[in-house]
Amino acid sequence: MSVALVGAGPGDPGLLTLRGAELLADAEAVVYDRLAAPALLDLAPPGAERIFVGKAPGDVAMTQDAINQTLVRLGAAGKRVVRLKGGDPFVFGRGGEEAQALERAGIEFEVVPGITSAISAPAYAGIPVTHRGLSTHVTVVTGHEDPAKERSDVDWEALAAAGGTLVILMGVARLEEIAARLLAAGRSGDTPLAAVARGTRPDQQTRRSTLGEVAEGGLPALSSPAVIVVGEVAALDLSWFEKRPLHGRTVVVTRAREQSSGLRRRLETLGARVVELPTIQIEDLPFELPELTGYAWIVFTSANGVSAFFERGLTASGLDARALAGSKVAAIGPGTADALAQRGVIVDVTPERFVAESLLEALPADGRGERVLIPRAEQARDVLPDGLAARGFGVDVLPVYRTTRAEPDAADLDAVRNGEVDCVTFTSSSTVWNFRDAIGDLGDVTPDVVSIGPVTSATAEQAGLPVTVEAAEHTIDGLVAAVCDLLGTKR
Ligand code: SAH
Repeated sequence: MSVALVGAGPGDPGLLTLRGAELLADAEAVVYDRLAAPALLDLAPPGAERIFVGKAPGDVAMTQDAINQTLVRLGAAGKRVVRLKGGDPFVFGRGGEEAQALERAGIEFEVVPGITSAISAPAYAGIPVTHRGLSTHVTVVTGHEDPAKERSDVDWEALAAAGGTLVILMGVARLEEIAARLLAAGRSGDTPLAAVARGTRPDQQTRRSTLGEVAEGGLPALSSPAVIVVGEVAALDLSWFEKRPLHGRTVVVTRAREQSSGLRRRLETLGARVVELPTIQIEDLPFELPELTGYAWIVFTSANGVSAFFERGLTASGLDARALAGSKVAAIGPGTADALAQRGVIVDVTPERFVAESLLEALPADGRGERVLIPRAEQARDVLPDGLAARGFGVDVLPVYRTTRAEPDAADLDAVRNGEVDCVTFTSSSTVWNFRDAIGDLGDVTPDVVSIGPVTSATAEQAGLPVTVEAAEHTIDGLVAAVCDLLGTKR
């Protein structure tokens, strides 16, 4: 019923406010521009209208007037509108003008402040904008104006005289002139200066210099967006973000989107840029839940199998974990065991290594005619059922889901083909084969391949994707450790 001007933060999606997330989750229309992180758009319901209003420098998809009119039109139509704005809406974001337009049109609006790049980009570069003993005030100023203009709105002389910390937004193009002007007004040539480009994003870059050097053209070309910090604090280097082990690295995740979030989050926390290239998707398979009392063992070989069995088997039949009371439960690895624990079941057996062969070893050597149920994917290896049958178990395989091919995004496939990624991770044989099909001929490009375990590795070799590193522990954590080993040694 109203329009919310929501600060999207500087780029790291984790820096959105809770109120912002709440409004996005309930939005009917989201109006966004280039500064908004794609991950934030995913927080809006799939059915919400997504309206891009551009605004890359030099490529103005929509004028400010047209944006204002769009907001007024959507607001007047009674929609719940979120206008996502980079950083904070009222810090050089022209959010004030949007609010004025809404007010004039009599449309209710709300402002959700965001984390501004003026403070957060320096923070992610390890620069506190104020610091005891070094700086008692901070001024945020636009560098967009021509500093040589006769009557400038920015009084660079007064700013130079005031000292303290100066944070310049939109200043990359005119940095040299600005530095010269500050020097001419009396700021010392030794004054430290830092430029933080693409702050809080996985490809953040910080360059340090001095005002004097920069006035002489001393700072190499910066990618945008960037903030410039001038003042004693710019010499502080409490760097942490750019020091993370995978900072600046790009890792491809080929798991199904439904399962990729854990791996993705772990890699991102270590600093990697993650390209999600889901090559498979999980599809529900209809199945009839058998009478469970006759099974001595229920053996789960994936977290997917657990969720399908519980949600579409037990829950759908009006049952819960107590239906498993008479059976022992085995899980192939910690991910599967976790999925069971979340549903109130503590497993009796997990193998030493997280592959079917090892799980087989962990189960009783003599089946004595006992019955085993294996809820799992439609297509899977038969090591486990065959092995158990050979030991005298009565084995029932219950297919509860299937994996089918997903169509990955063309731009993401191109990133791999162009050698723009540092490694590709595989968590199962099906991800390997479908990746191979989707990517086609890689020519001379040979991305490093990291595999979760021996079975996946063998498939990768067979598919012409030689494995660079195999996870020592065949789990998602093991895979992440292998990626760190690989990209760590290459540094
Ligand atoms: N409202 C925004 C600022 C918009 S003006 C905010 O509060 O952050 C656009 C300018 O913001 C860019 O020219 C650049 O100076 C700065 N900026 C935005 N995002 C940035 C980022 N991730 N890293 C560094 N600077 C950024």
